[in-house]
Amino acid sequence: MTDKLRAPRGTFDVLPEQSELRASLEAAARELFDAAGYGRVETPAFEATELFSRGVGEATDIVQKEMYTFEDAGGRSLTLRPEGTAPVCRAYVEHGMHRLPAPVKLWYLSSFFRYERAQAGRYRQFWQIGAEALGSDDPAVDAELIVLLATLLERSGTRELRLHLSSLGNPATRAGYREELQAYLHRHEQALSEEVRSRIDLNPLRAFDSDHGPTREVMAGAPRLLDRLDPDDAAHFAELRVLLDRAGVDYEVDATLVRGLDYYTRTVFEFESAALGAQSGVGGGGRYDGLVEELGGPPTPGVGFAAGVERILLAADAQPPAAPGIDLFIAFDGGPASRDAAFAMLLQARQAGLRAEMELAGRSLKGQLKHADRLDAQHVAILAPDGTTLKDMRAATQTEIDTAAVVDSVLAAIGRQQ
Ligand code: AMP
Repeated sequence: MTDKLRAPRGTFDVLPEQSELRASLEAAARELFDAAGYGRVETPAFEATELFSRGVGEATDIVQKEMYTFEDAGGRSLTLRPEGTAPVCRAYVEHGMHRLPAPVKLWYLSSFFRYERAQAGRYRQFWQIGAEALGSDDPAVDAELIVLLATLLERSGTRELRLHLSSLGNPATRAGYREELQAYLHRHEQALSEEVRSRIDLNPLRAFDSDHGPTREVMAGAPRLLDRLDPDDAAHFAELRVLLDRAGVDYEVDATLVRGLDYYTRTVFEFESAALGAQSGVGGGGRYDGLVEELGGPPTPGVGFAAGVERILLAADAQPPAAPGIDLFIAFDGGPASRDAAFAMLLQARQAGLRAEMELAGRSLKGQLKHADRLDAQHVAILAPDGTTLKDMRAATQTEIDTAAVVDSVLAAIGRQQ
């Protein structure tokens, strides 16, 4: 016996109703980004593995545990993209976009791949809407992106949102702070969870993410990076806060905000929705002033965000819209000659811009009328060897009509002329 074939664990099929919801979200994103001067980019679904190990960071969960990495037939190590920022920065360098007027503003809607424990709202293939602005360290760019994401989430009906905001300073401050935190964690090692203890040297910041009670108690008294920022970074953060206050964006300064990617500097932020369960992150991002250089480009500041399409739809409790009815259903009675005339009428109707369908499943005439009803057809043409009838389903009237006049008659009835 063969097992039934199913979509791989952590993946899903997008069926037509869901496609509609996704298309509306995409349209909302496009409108918002167009108006703000962001151009759309699409990078390959797979990249050289090194892009992510260098860009995202060797010590991150993503690189350590979650990448779909494979060798192709030419012996290259490739990885299905787990995130969008490193690929966009790679494209920025590859196409010499640093020569364009700054900031270069880009957005994407693409699928990403992470080998994570699959659960509600967490998938192994998921979609993100993301935006990146490269070439400026002005806090107004950070503010613009945060406002854009807030607007997108609001317009898509995402409920019970909270914005967490922090600053991670620069690499030197972070290195000093990291040592201070490691020393603190070592002093309290007995109370820490096994996992946090094993990662003190590799990734001490992740200790702030722990759900383990005693670890959380230790972390409540831990030194905070936000209190160690150098004056430039502190000023950058203060200016961003003023801009967000003026824009009327509510946020909570959260010194424990840790993002799972190594490239962040200065600003980090995350929107959470209480309408979601354990996976409450809807979208987040931050500044990555060293990433482009790390990938071989000129020193270039950058800031961006990514928001999960599935989480936005879940947090908005988005309901599929009712399918719109069609303008014309073409039924026929009789043999192939009627079928061929129906097909010709179908093409003519669509050419004229009508939403039109014809009988394609060999139903009886009665079955065809029932099907027209299911499709919520406003008009039904019935082609038969002895003549054509046009029914107006709303007005419940019917007329004998010249076959060639059906399309014009429907156009006139719905208030459109050819
Ligand atoms: P990240 O790239 O990890 O900062 O994630 C940004 C956003 O992408 C999150 O807030 C989620 O909305 C979404 N996301 C990340 N990982 C997943 C996943 N495995 N499944 C579904 N959505 C995800």
